[in-house]
Amino acid sequence: TESCLKAIEGADALNAWSAKTPEMALDMAKAADARLKSGDAPAMCGIPLGIKDLFAVKGVPTQAGSNILKGFKPEYESTVTQNLWDAGAVMLGKLSMDEFAMGSSNETACYGPAINPWKVDDKARTPGGSSGGSAAAVAADLCLAATGTDTGGSIRQPAAFTGITGIKPTYGRCSRWGVVAYASSLDQAGPMTKDVRDAAIMLQAMCSHDPKDSTSTEIAVPDFEAALTGDIRGKKIGIPREYRLDGMPEEIAALWDNGMAMLRDAGAEIVDISLPHSKYALPAYYVIAPAEASSNLARYDGVRYGHRATLGKGDGIDDMYAKTRAEGFGPEVQRRIMIGTYVLSAGFYDAYYNRARKVRALIKRDFEQAFAAGIDAILAPTTPSSAFAIGEMKDADPVKMYLNDVFTVTLNLAGLPGVSVPVGLDKQGLPLGLQLIGRPWEEGELLNHALVLE
Ligand code: GLN
Repeated sequence: TESCLKAIEGADALNAWSAKTPEMALDMAKAADARLKSGDAPAMCGIPLGIKDLFAVKGVPTQAGSNILKGFKPEYESTVTQNLWDAGAVMLGKLSMDEFAMGSSNETACYGPAINPWKVDDKARTPGGSSGGSAAAVAADLCLAATGTDTGGSIRQPAAFTGITGIKPTYGRCSRWGVVAYASSLDQAGPMTKDVRDAAIMLQAMCSHDPKDSTSTEIAVPDFEAALTGDIRGKKIGIPREYRLDGMPEEIAALWDNGMAMLRDAGAEIVDISLPHSKYALPAYYVIAPAEASSNLARYDGVRYGHRATLGKGDGIDDMYAKTRAEGFGPEVQRRIMIGTYVLSAGFYDAYYNRARKVRALIKRDFEQAFAAGIDAILAPTTPSSAFAIGEMKDADPVKMYLNDVFTVTLNLAGLPGVSVPVGLDKQGLPLGLQLIGRPWEEGELLNHALVLE
């Protein structure tokens, strides 16, 4: 813990932390020492972690990357972080993220963008998003691991951009209680770690059935680490042909081939499969996620949390809502609220929201059919590129940024687990990741396949 705190002090340039809690960290580390001495050493005992600023940590500023939550210190603890503390983990601080987890570059964060520790030229690169602070901090050795959340790729994409491992578990595996909501039917927490084994251990500590979240599963949590045998002989790996996009960069295609070869060398069988509706995943996601967000973000009204605008003489309650929300939400969040409200509005609900829900059901069915046909895991690139430069996408058309999520959003729509593992570097020397998608509730099996790619 002390060495992490020291490293954090020397790494201000990365702008990864939204709040630092060194005193809390040292107290928790002492408590962990005592637990170790007494022989009661749970899996995460004494492990110093960073926590994405989307998780409520009691008494610690929790801003979700937004000015509208300025000054908010929760009175309660998220179930995931409570589970980690119960398992002995140590809290180093909160990590930067895109505002309300909307973004793929950490550039919508109210605390300014976090910076990718990977440097190959003068250009500062994004660590990806929305869990960009988490990825930067793990990659730069400022913490041993971090929590992330993944609604459409926010664990896997930043993991790929920074050369670390990140798993989004099956929807319902981790409780969403105390995690600031973006799109509730898609949001899932997961670990961002240095390797697959750490991911298995930390995921185990994070998940539990939680009566406070009605979508949290009662299915027992198996021993994920015990599943890491490295033996994948006879397993069938699906290669979805629809993921081979026109104009896919050569080095991404080569990376994918390389992953297939690694799995084949370990005794798995590579099978061509079709997921015919995956080409509609991105548009369906960018209807469903903003729709849910527009509803979830209605609670920020200047009354219950954080920021309230200064009102003029004669201003009424509607003025307070409007001014508070105009000041508190950044442009990307406002855009999503507008899109979400539009697609849910009476005249357009059937044309957009209902249509997207139908597409979602078809996407889910594609995966179910592949697994029913005996596929054990699906291999695809995590991202269509390596980490782009700060400013490169943000200043362009917002849709350009959305396109970066083309490979990640699909499995969120289907509720499936997915892991990104670093598999090599691009021509410039920046990390690239491959993604494995697994059967629901079989995160251990999935991580075992990922082990082979390490
Ligand atoms: N980049 C995607 C979005 O902006 C995914 C974000 C996430 O997974 N939280 O919605």
